[in-house]
Amino acid sequence: MIGARIRKSEPLPEVVAWRRTDATFGQPGSLVIGSLAMTMLGTACYVRTGAPWLAGWSAATLVVLLARLLLARAYWRQEPRQDPELWARRFTIGAWSTGILWAVISVVMVTEGDPLTHLLVLAVQGGFFAGAAARNSPLPAAAQGTLALGLGPMLLACLVNGEPTYLLLGCFVFLHLMAGIGVARFLGRQTVGLLLSNEEKAELVREIGRANAGLAEANARLEAIASTDALTGLTNRRGFDTALQALWSRAAQDGSHLALALIDVDRFKQFNDRLGHPAGDACLRALGQALQGAVRQGGDIVARYGGEEMAVLLPGMDAEAAMGIAERLRLSVEELRIAHPSAPFGRVTVSVGVASLVPDEAGSPAILLARADTALYAAKAGGRNCASLAEAA
Ligand code: GH3
Ligand code: MG
Ligand code: MG
Repeated sequence: MIGARIRKSEPLPEVVAWRRTDATFGQPGSLVIGSLAMTMLGTACYVRTGAPWLAGWSAATLVVLLARLLLARAYWRQEPRQDPELWARRFTIGAWSTGILWAVISVVMVTEGDPLTHLLVLAVQGGFFAGAAARNSPLPAAAQGTLALGLGPMLLACLVNGEPTYLLLGCFVFLHLMAGIGVARFLGRQTVGLLLSNEEKAELVREIGRANAGLAEANARLEAIASTDALTGLTNRRGFDTALQALWSRAAQDGSHLALALIDVDRFKQFNDRLGHPAGDACLRALGQALQGAVRQGGDIVARYGGEEMAVLLPGMDAEAAMGIAERLRLSVEELRIAHPSAPFGRVTVSVGVASLVPDEAGSPAILLARADTALYAAKAGGRNCASLAEAA
């Protein structure tokens, strides 16, 4: 699990490492406010003490601010994004530069000014270091390093000053440093933990998406298998029933014709008896392909209705057109020239019963089936190897 990595201090997943640097580089506002406050502090100290180096210090603060803003700009403009750890180090160096610079003003504690100036420095520095600790917390080295680099010299300055009040202030600086490091560590862990769990959630969502896509694919495959006849590869009876119902409803809505051709192999029992069932199976397979090849692809549906009977659904076809197709179907089988020892023509033939009507929404597709079946009987009675059209109702 991703969450366990934080404890084992393993490298962060790259996406999380980027989020972490995004979080630190994404706060230019607070960086600007902090730096401007420091510049104001330097200026105030300069006005109170008249020490020229304080004016230079204020200017240096602005220069470091500018450099860090340029670094942030380069970070957001990089294309493609590469090596988040390198950017983390760059940010850390920027933060440390600010920390070191801010520490320099601690010199006033020993060399310049009055206690009020020193207090001003301590108060403003302390406040902004707390802010920096929080802002830099996603990168522990940046957060804790900045605190140590900034407040450490300030503590030292209090100690060097040596006066009891300054020693007391030094104690507060020390406590502030400890508390700041504690808060930075806590916030850092929180942030990284949240980023990791967010990524884990995103990964879960991606996994669910992949699983759903796989499931949909498997369902579609299953649906196809469930509607396919294993022997011929044609639509099976189940698929035929569903298609018939759907085409019936659509034709009823459109007011268009729906035709059905029922096809029955002639004297197939004898074929099996003479040549065996495996040959019968091969014959049915060949028939299926021939019938499929004789209809409009994508629109007409050829199905194995049951046994050696096939059914072809012909949407939009009136009786005359359907009879044309029926003849084509019959011929396609005859032209296979599959030898049939017991047939009068010496080859496998089929009889076709055709019916066509404009469905009535209130009616049932059973009417169409019954008519085609009757026509099929007529074809058989008429000598087989022919197509017969159901009489108009
Ligand atoms: P008719 O011309 O009147 O249709 O005669 P027929 O012999 O075709 O009709 P009948 O209904 O008597 O026989 C159908 C035969 O089809 C019987 C059965 O063994 C055969 N049959 C049905 N399904 C299969 C199958 O999947 N494989 C094989 N090999 N034969 C099958
Ligand atoms: Mg039959
Ligand atoms: Mg038959």
